This record gives sequence, C-alpha cells and structure tokens, in this order.
Amino acid sequence: MTKAIYPGSFDPVTLGHLDIIRRASNVVDHLIVGVLNNQSKRPMFTVKERVEMLKKVTEDIPNIEVLSFSGLLVDFAHQTNAQVIVRGLRAITDFEYELLMSQTNRKIAADVDTVFFTTKLDYAYLSSSTVKEVAAFGGDISQFVTPYIEQRMKEKLNR
Ligand code: ADP
Repeated sequence: MTKAIYPGSFDPVTLGHLDIIRRASNVVDHLIVGVLNNQSKRPMFTVKERVEMLKKVTEDIPNIEVLSFSGLLVDFAHQTNAQVIVRGLRAITDFEYELLMSQTNRKIAADVDTVFFTTKLDYAYLSSSTVKEVAAFGGDISQFVTPYIEQRMKEKLNR
C-alpha cells in the first residue's frame, strides 16, 4: 500500500493546495495531509483550526486523513508508515528550496522519497500569504479558496 504525506502550513488551505491534494489522492492508496505546527511562524489560524478546515474541504475524498505534526517530517513519515512525501511546485522559485529539502530528507531517511506535482497553471501564482493579504484589505478571495474557507477568513477578520 502506498502511503504519502502532503505536508505544509495550510494557513489557510487554498485551491492550489486542494488541486495537489486531489491529484495526489488519485495516485496513492492513502494520503495524509500533515499540518505543520511551526512555532517560528505567526499563523492566522491555529493548527487545530487548520486541521478542521482541511477536513471540511476534503470530506468527499475517501482515502484521506488530516493530522498535525511537529518536529522532523521524516520522523512523522516513519511514525505513520508513509514512504512518500508529496510537494507542489509552482515556479522555478519553489524549485531550489524544494530540491534542498528533498535532498536533506533523503540524507536523513533514505527510505522516504519525495514526489513533486507541478501546479495547475490557474494556481501558479497562488499562495496562502497572498490570500491573507488580499483578505486583510477586504479584497475578493473567492477565486483562491472554497466558500467555506472564505467564510472562516471573514469570521477571523471580523467581517
Ligand atoms: P509551506 O509553509 O511548507 O511552504 P504551504 O502550505 O505554503 O507550506 O505549501 C505546502 C505545499 O503546497 C508546498 O509544497 C507548496 O509548494 C505547495 N503549494 C502551495 N501553493 C500551491 C499552489 N498554488 N499550487 C501548487 N502547489 C502549491
């Protein structure tokens, strides 16, 4: 059974993330979406909220599980018996960082491999930070996130 982890901050989950989630869930038996509990970033949503939001927007996908983790990604992969890490590539600018991460992870855990999905062109520009910025200034984010996430962001921003 192929088990993969798609890790990220997902603060909040965008249509770009969802596209990768759907495509990855089609090629593996089981996909774990891993929400990183990163102390160094100041997130808009708590890890608990991000997990809840991801569960909601992926509720129609049968072979998916949403979990949070902290610490090393490869340790989380070993704990969950996942052999594959899924990452998304938007542009060349993502490539250098992702290459470094995947080489480092393979150095520490040779039994875990990274697989990259290239973004759907419609979402190549899209990031959680952009969505937060547009929302903070009252802009329309309906092209970037699902209606449920849009609502959660409005509530967070008291709109
Ligand atoms: P991180 O904080 O680890 O970068 P993100 O939540 O920003 O986490 O992204 C998680 C993964 O999803 C990364 O591999 C990132 O490249 C990918 N990703 C983010 N936005 C998009 C998008 N619009 N299209 C495709 N992949 C994306």
